[in-house]
This record gives sequence, structure tokens and C-alpha cells, in this order.
Amino acid sequence: MRIWMVETVLVLLLLSGACRPVPAPVTLPPVSTVIQTSIPPLQPTPTSQPAGSSPDALKACDLTLQANALRSSTVPDWSTLGIDTCYNLTFDLTSGGPDYSGSARISFTNPGSTALDDLVLRTYPNAPLLYGGRLDVTTAQVNEIDLPIDIFLEDRTAVRLPLDQPLEPGKTLVLELNFSGKLPVDFGSDQVYGTFNFASDGPVMLMANAYPLLALREDGKWRADPVLPEGDAVISRIALYQVEVRVPAAWQVVSSGREVSRAGSNNDAVIQIAGGPLREFMLAVSPTFELQQAVWEDITINHWGQPEAESSRAEVMQVAQDALSLFSQTFGPLPYNELDIIAAPLNNASGVEYPGLILVGGSLYDSRSLPQILPMVTAHEIAHQWWYAVVGNDVLQHPWLDEALATYSAQLYQLNYDPVFYQGALREYRRQVTDLEAEIGVQPLDQSVAALSNLERAYSIVAYLKGNLFFEALREEVGAAEFNAALQSYYRENSYQIASPADLLKSFEFACTCDLNEFFGEWGVQP
Ligand SMILES: [Zn+2]
Repeated sequence: MRIWMVETVLVLLLLSGACRPVPAPVTLPPVSTVIQTSIPPLQPTPTSQPAGSSPDALKACDLTLQANALRSSTVPDWSTLGIDTCYNLTFDLTSGGPDYSGSARISFTNPGSTALDDLVLRTYPNAPLLYGGRLDVTTAQVNEIDLPIDIFLEDRTAVRLPLDQPLEPGKTLVLELNFSGKLPVDFGSDQVYGTFNFASDGPVMLMANAYPLLALREDGKWRADPVLPEGDAVISRIALYQVEVRVPAAWQVVSSGREVSRAGSNNDAVIQIAGGPLREFMLAVSPTFELQQAVWEDITINHWGQPEAESSRAEVMQVAQDALSLFSQTFGPLPYNELDIIAAPLNNASGVEYPGLILVGGSLYDSRSLPQILPMVTAHEIAHQWWYAVVGNDVLQHPWLDEALATYSAQLYQLNYDPVFYQGALREYRRQVTDLEAEIGVQPLDQSVAALSNLERAYSIVAYLKGNLFFEALREEVGAAEFNAALQSYYRENSYQIASPADLLKSFEFACTCDLNEFFGEWGVQP
């Protein structure tokens, strides 16, 4: 999941004394002593290319343009990534209001070994939970033949399109869609995160999953889970994106990927964006964003916020540079050449991550907010660039995979930059896990969002906090050098893929050349 919940974790943590001064750490070695000096460049994993995949869908996206979004050292051999989808999207946001329209030209190569009779799209904004808006597919065509549009799931977040002719394995079709959407205004309900929202102050439009996204194809079936009340909703394979966004002139457009051109008239601006390999495409627009920029190595960091965010912007920019440096050295290099950070109005969440873009709750920039929260949330969401954006996972069945790693990574940042806070947080995490398990029994770490949502407070405390304790204990068990080597190999081997718990756990056994079965069993995870 992508959400770092204020209510269930951070406020409890800070109010319960974690920010009181505590002795400096003595039991853990400084991270700099265990960093490997040479990490191989990010490489695709040819063996994980799905059987039958062909690069036909790649021809629909301009690969030279796609490379604009990547660092020159990380441009891959595209044909080895197993990419089967190219999205050509347009968004018309010229009304400047909560209603929008758009089109999608989706080139899709059947990656499986059997013919497909239908396609399934996800229309997440229709979910009353987390999103609270509308996204309607208004027309769907293949080869200029209209397809029936069959909405299913109670929350209306899935659309089945029966095909006129089956799509044989390895063959490519071009799906032409028109869609329209409506953002809730100022959250509209208390069940949403505000990631799909029209904030009238600004205004600021956040447009997570604002287009029809191809569902995940898994074990020969389309996967379509309803949206749950907490955690994250989206599981998606890497695809290529070319996007055109039309906005009122002088509005800023912030997104995953990289802007490649901007044109327009007195009334409207037209922005062209190249995504690069993305799990999903995030978009945000506003006429009042103020931009501050920094560069770390060849990655441009853009900070976008309302004027009132100014006082804390410099701190967030410093955290971003320090976190990029620390995580790159410890885990491996990021592929994207731009990171956008938006100080955004959020609800029930302190921060949210997307490929190449993070949201940080605007209220955290308030000088009255507890000062440790802002760097912690910023580091956590930046860590999700490694653990979600590049290495994906099944965020519904195994939410601990990315959340525990992001929480561990943020603690690694604190250990280096605020060791007093690190120790206090660690003690508080232990206390919260102990208290929860005294109440409801020992909880295995590897549980689904659905299972954890049945138990009050369990999702955040198990997936984030117990997950962090698991990695702390594992580092003690295998040794710091082996621990970091395992994370580096997990990152390298699973980049652009959807990793399983076994992929992660086996990387530790491989690095330590030891049997960790009993250790894993004690924590409730299975390789
Ligand atoms: Zn997270």
C-alpha cells in the first residue's frame, strides 16, 4: 500500500514520546560502513519475460521519446522487459473544473498462451472507497467495430469488453476508447484519500488512475479486485505511456514521466509527456503551484506547492536529495531522471507514492506540525520509488512487501540523519506491535489487506511496523553486508516486475548462504 496513515501510526508514535531525546544508537553499525562501493547498473530480467510476448506493442510507442524519461545509464533493451502495452492518452482539462474528458489508444499484445475473448479495464475512480468520483468509458472500438461495455463489480471499478474476434497469443490489437470523468470537490466524503480530487483552494486537481487501466492478467485470467477501505488498490504491470494534456493557459502540469513539449494558444496549453516504463500514470494540475528545483546527480527534483508551503520546502528538498543518495547507494540506481514532489491536500493519509511522483500532505508543511513527521513521510514515499514503482508487488495479497521495505528505508534514513528519532521510533514500533498482539494474538507478517482490515489498527501496525521490526531482526540474523547485498539483488533481479515474497526471502538465503526457514516461520512469512 502506498498510504502512510497519520491516524493509526504517526500521531500515536509522536504523541507517545518517540520524539523525546533518547541515547544515540550503539547497537547498529552506521550504514556507511556496510554500503558496497560498486553496484551493477539496473538491468532488465530477460528470463521473466512472459511466454509468447512479442514487442509489437512497443512499436506503438516512440522508444526514443520514452528514453527521455530515463537516465542515460538506465535506458534498457526495451524488447527484454516483457512490456505488452503502450498507452496513448489524451486528457482535456480545459474546463478548469472537476469534469474532464479524454481518449485512450491502447496497443496490447496478448502475452499468454491462449487466445483472449475479452479485455478487462479498471475504472478505479468509481469506487466510493478511497476515490469517490466518476470514470466512464463512453465508447470502445477495435478495428472501428464498437465493443459492448459491460461494467461489473459492485463498486463499478471494472469494465469487460467482449472482443469481436479472439486475440491470439502474441498478436496485437489497438483498443480505441473515449472516457469522461468527474473529480469529487474537496474530498466529498470521509472515505477517500484525496488522490482523485478537485481542491477548490488553488484549485488543485489530483488525478490518480483517471483513465481506464488494463487489468492485471494473472494465471490465464483477468484479475479484478474491488477497492478496499484501506491500503492501496492498484496492481499493474509496467507499460509505456505517451500522454497529451490540455489545460487552461498558464496552468502547471505535473506528472509521472517527463514533459517533452509545451505549446498552445492564448486560451489553452498542450503538454506532451513521455512516461518511460510505468506501473501507472499520475497527473496533477493547478494554476497556483510554485516550483522549486534541485538536481541530484542526473535526477531533477521538482517541488510543487501552494505558496503557504514555502517555509518547509527547503527541508523537503534536502531530505529528497539525501534520501536519493542513501537509497541509491544502499539498494541500487533509480531509472527515472525526474522526481516530482507535490505538497498536496490529502485526507486520511500523510503521503502517497506514484512512479516518478510523490504526494506529501500539505498540512505537514505547517510549522505547527511536529517537525519529525515531514522528513519521515518524505523519505518513506521516496523509498517507494524502489519498492513499488520499480519493484512491484501484489499490494492486496502481500502489502507488507513494499510497505515494510519503505518503512525500513525511512528508518535507515533516520538512522543516518536523526539517530535519536530513529531509536525512539524503533522503541515505539516495538511497543505498538507488542500491545496489538497482546490484544489479538501474534500476527503473521504476510497477510492480505482484506484480512488485516478486519482487525482494528492491524493493517498499519502489522504491514508497516512489524514489517520494519522483521527487517531489523533479519539484518541482525544475517549480518549487515549480506543484508544489503540481498536487497540489492532483489531490486536488480525484480526491477519492472511484480515480485513475490519468495523472491525477496530467497535473496536473503542466497546472500547469507544459510537456511532461514525457521526464522521466516517465526515471523509468519514463507518463501
Ligand atoms: Zn507506504
